Amino acid sequence: MIIDVHSHCLQPDHVSEASRRADERAGYPPMQPLPFETYQEAMRVVDKSVVFGVRALACGALSPNDFTADWVAKDPDRIIGFMCIDPTEDGYLDEIDRCASDLGLRGIKIYPMLAHFNPADPLYFALYEKAQRLGLPILSHVGAHPNPRSILKYSHPLLFDEVAQAFPDLKIVIAHMGHPWQRDCAIVIRKHANVFADVSGAGWVRPYSAWEALVLMVEWGVADKLLFGSDFPFWTPGEGMTKMRRLNEQVEGTNLPRIPDEVIEGIIHRNTLELLGLE
Ligand SMILES: [Zn+2]
Repeated sequence: MIIDVHSHCLQPDHVSEASRRADERAGYPPMQPLPFETYQEAMRVVDKSVVFGVRALACGALSPNDFTADWVAKDPDRIIGFMCIDPTEDGYLDEIDRCASDLGLRGIKIYPMLAHFNPADPLYFALYEKAQRLGLPILSHVGAHPNPRSILKYSHPLLFDEVAQAFPDLKIVIAHMGHPWQRDCAIVIRKHANVFADVSGAGWVRPYSAWEALVLMVEWGVADKLLFGSDFPFWTPGEGMTKMRRLNEQVEGTNLPRIPDEVIEGIIHRNTLELLGLE
């Protein structure tokens, strides 16, 4: 079984005009509409995928959770929807209840650096308390973000150490292994039984740091806590698997350590749904 734990259904009309203009000034290509058929085609190589939008009031990203639910409804046997929650918005706790009970969304995606909140601030602990009580895993963007308005200090893996201590039964996924702070990510996932990391993007997009990150994860004994994810539409899961399987080509002919093949295949074939309580 192959699970893609990190994919997006973000559309241009989920983002404010001001935000789109700022992105274009920062040099991004204009965002294109993402047809469901394109998503479905890319996901053929995996058995199931987790999908979500982006919600961050401070940066003008406001994907409706109903849109995610409608996306899931087009292929409910193969797609699992997560709600996107910004805890700086009024009524976010009611929105979690609505998304879980009425829309059938099964986890929560957060963007602390875009929504401008410190995820370790007790002001936001009601979010984790509710997620833990309802059995909803939290998947957070952690690490670098190219948006000039993101606040990087709210995107560090160490912040989730305190969250995990306060909510030991909450399943937490640190997206992108917290890149470029993969070493810090390793020591957080080592400490906490219910904290995992996904390899989306960072698992291959910068091949040298991806190779180093996976070697580090093996040295720290946490490679079995890494979950496969693509970050589609930025990369397809097929590209992600191919690029991960080729990381060792960089060290061929040297004495540098190889990432064991069984580690790479272990990530790709991880029992993610069982680990996150989503079976
Ligand atoms: Zn992503």
